[in-house]
Amino acid sequence: MRVKCPICGEPVEVPDDVLPGELIDHECGVTLEVLMDGNSIRLKPLEGIKEDWGE
Ligand SMILES: [Zn+2]
Repeated sequence: MRVKCPICGEPVEVPDDVLPGELIDHECGVTLEVLMDGNSIRLKPLEGIKEDWGE
C-alpha cells in the first residue's frame, strides 16, 4: 500500500504486512516509523522531536 510521507507529501511504499515500529527510509531522506491507527497506517518521522502527533 502507499502512505503519504508526512515530510515531503510523496507516496511511500509500505509492505502490506508491515508491523508497527518498523522503520522505512523515504527517498526524501527522512526515516519514518510505522504506527498503526485502527486499520490505517501512519508514518511518523523518526527524527522528529515533536511527539505531539495529534489527530
Ligand atoms: Zn518523504
